[in-house]
Order: sequence, then C-alpha cells, then structure tokens
Amino acid sequence: MPYNVGHQLSIPTSSLVKIETSSDDLKVGVSDLMAWLCLLMILSTCQTTWALDTRSESKLSNLTRELLESAREPEFFGWLKRIRRRIHEYPELAFEEDNTSQLIKSELDSLGVEYSWPFAKTGVVGSIGSGLQPWFGLRADMDALPIQEMVEWEHKSKNNGKMHACGHDAHVTMLLGAAKLLERMKDELKGTVKLVFQPGEESYGGAYHMLKEGALDNVQGIFGLHVAPEIPVGTVDSRPGPMLAASGRFIATINGKGGHAARPQDTRDPILAASFAILALQHIVSRETDPLDAMVVSVGFVEAGQAGNVIPETMRFGGSIRSMTTEGLVFLQQRVKQIVEMQAAVHQCTASLDFMEEKMRPYPSTVNDEAMYKHAKQVGEALLGESNVRLAPMIMAAEDFSFYSQKMKAAFFFIGAKNEAVKSVKRLHSPYFVIDEEVLPIGAAFHAAVAISYLDGHAMDTQ
Ligand SMILES: [Zn+2]
Ligand SMILES: [Zn+2]
Repeated sequence: MPYNVGHQLSIPTSSLVKIETSSDDLKVGVSDLMAWLCLLMILSTCQTTWALDTRSESKLSNLTRELLESAREPEFFGWLKRIRRRIHEYPELAFEEDNTSQLIKSELDSLGVEYSWPFAKTGVVGSIGSGLQPWFGLRADMDALPIQEMVEWEHKSKNNGKMHACGHDAHVTMLLGAAKLLERMKDELKGTVKLVFQPGEESYGGAYHMLKEGALDNVQGIFGLHVAPEIPVGTVDSRPGPMLAASGRFIATINGKGGHAARPQDTRDPILAASFAILALQHIVSRETDPLDAMVVSVGFVEAGQAGNVIPETMRFGGSIRSMTTEGLVFLQQRVKQIVEMQAAVHQCTASLDFMEEKMRPYPSTVNDEAMYKHAKQVGEALLGESNVRLAPMIMAAEDFSFYSQKMKAAFFFIGAKNEAVKSVKRLHSPYFVIDEEVLPIGAAFHAAVAISYLDGHAMDTQ
C-alpha cells in the first residue's frame, strides 16, 4: 500500500511543474485536465486494489481461524493424538514403512480420500479436489531413525533400536489432519491437493525416488513442514532462497602394504597416509573457499588395524560434506577426491573414493521459491499472528525436500514444537526427543490453509 500512495502523489507534482513552465495557455489547460484525469483513474484503481486486498486478507484470516478451530476440537485433536502415538510406538526405518503406509491408507479410506500407491516402495499419494489443475502438493516424510528411545512414557517405541526422533510421526499426523480438513471442503477447492506421504528421508533420498517414479508429475507447487524443538509451539519460521545445505557422504579407502611395526621400512603405512589426508581435508574450507560461503568437511569415522605391533594393509575413513549451494557440494567432492588420492600417493599408497551416489544419494540444497515462501508466510501470519512467523537462519542440516524444490515451486517451513512445560526441548535425533502435541492441529491447519489459498490464487490468475 505505501508504494501506491507514493505513486498518487507523483502525478500532480509533475503536472504542476508543466503549468508553471508552459507558455501556451490552451496547452496548459489540456495538460492540466489530462493530469487530473490520470490521477482520478489511478486513485480509483488503487482503491479497487486496496478493496480486493482487504477482502482477500479477511477471507484468509477467516479461513485460517475456521481450520484451526476445527482441528482443535476435542474429537479432532484426540484423533490426531491417537494417530501420532500409534506411529510413534511402531517406528519403521527408510523404505520399510509398511505398517505406517498401511495406517495412512486406512485413515484415507475412512476419510473417503482417493490415493495411489506404492511409490518408492511404501509411498502414498492422496488426492482431494476437482482432479483438475492446478495441482498443489503437501508433503510428509514417514521414516524413523535407528535410535533407541530413552524417553519413559506410555507410548514409548515398541520397536527396539528404532525411534521417531525427528518428528516424522508428527508430520504424517499433521498431513492426515490436513486431509480431514480438506475433505470437508473438497467441493470448494479450485483445483487439486496432492497429499505426498514419502519414505526414506533420513539419508536415503526418498523424495528423489518419489519424483523418479512419477508420484509428483504435473504438480506445480509444494509445501512441507518440519517440527522444530528450538522454537516455541505457536510459531513457525523459514526464509526465502537457500535455507538448508546440500549434503553428501564419502568413504575413502587407502591401500598400503602391511607388516611388522618394528620394520616400517618394509611397509607402506596406510594409517600415516590417511592421517595426512584427514588433516589436509581441513584446509579446503579454511584456505580454499570464501569465508562467507558456508561449507563443512567433517570426518566421522576411521577404521584400521587390530594390533599395536602390526601396520595394517588398509585404512578406511568417511565423513560428511556440506555446502549452502549444490555447486559448492560438487566442488567439495572433487577436492576431497584429489586431496585423498594425492596424499595417499605421497606416502606410496593408493586411494579410492566412494561418494555413495546410489545408496545415500547426495542431497541438493533446499531453496525456497520467493513467491511460494511469501505465500506460506502470509498464511502463517494469518494463522498465528505476524510476530509468530519469523525469519529462520540458514543452517547446515539437509533435507530431501530439496529434490522437490529443484523440480517445482516449493516452500519449506519449520513449525515450533518447543514447550518447557512438557519438556519438549531436546534436539532432533536425540534419544530424549519429545514434541508438544499442541503442534499437531496447528500443522494440520497450516498445511490445509496454504493449499486452499494457493488454489484460490491460481484459479484467479487463470480466469
Ligand atoms: Zn532427521
Ligand atoms: Zn526430519
């Protein structure tokens, strides 16, 4: 609005200058009249825009209020909690989410929502609306982590060594909640909402496989949520552009020549070669890259030898490389390979590098589309109030939502799950991870409102 007000003022000012400098009275009169006519036209246009904006703003705030009230009704909220706790009790690892997938299908059946499956082994895609374009996607990931839950509570994981420590149980629940809200309004939807339940987010690139199998063909835009124990319940945050890092793994194997520790002259020591290589890798970020470009090279494990008096034949080590840009990740891969191979050669050993392109596919960086970010931010502000939608910092964590963001207009938001009163303060991937379940109805309403208003906006554009 302030931009339009400025525009209105600029017209009469320039017309006044014309009046003072012109020598032709008739011309002055005509230019004066024309200027004021222009001003009147612009004023009437501005008023129309203002009226439209005000109407759509109040429509959005009514929509978000109704959705959140519905999701917080005791019966609805109770249903959400039951689903989340059931998934939490039976966590399943990447591409093994058979029972979770079954639960999703039976809930969609009960709601009367159509779906297609399987995608990427256990993935399910629900569909609500006219079936016609535009198609808008909402995404939830389903997999758990190989972590033993240490939280003592009634619904503790019953699958030994597996835990929903990244909140994906809540993500599935919030998307089923959105399905219930959207199904009630299906006749009013100006297009189609695709509910994307995907497997294997934790390191296995389930999103990549969903896309490869055509699960999101013809989807124009997508929105995703991740619970965040760092920010309070009732708040969300995100940022336009790059948000999460591109990430990849590597395993280096250095081959030397083993022998007696007392006769090093007969050996080619792979441990020494690997030690030099690990030190040299630390110089990539400190010496070769712009300090303002965020990158990470971390070595997470080393394996070699079994006895103190034997020099082994080989040594393996592996780690994680990250960058805020996908190009940066490609650069890191090249330099890690060169440095390890050359350090091995210096010590008369050989090296091979595996970047696990197939098994643990590197993730591109998660980049939010500016317009989609703005859209979801407006919806978040209507839902939770302006001060509860914040600008997220860039972080070096990675998400396979990035594969969607490469293919279509996408926005990814963190949704607050922190509440000191219920001790939901532990970080993601902690065996003590807890969420405040108050996040469930908020996430359901946020998902539904982003989709409904996206379809409304795009139906208007095509008229
Ligand atoms: Zn995780
Ligand atoms: Zn996660």
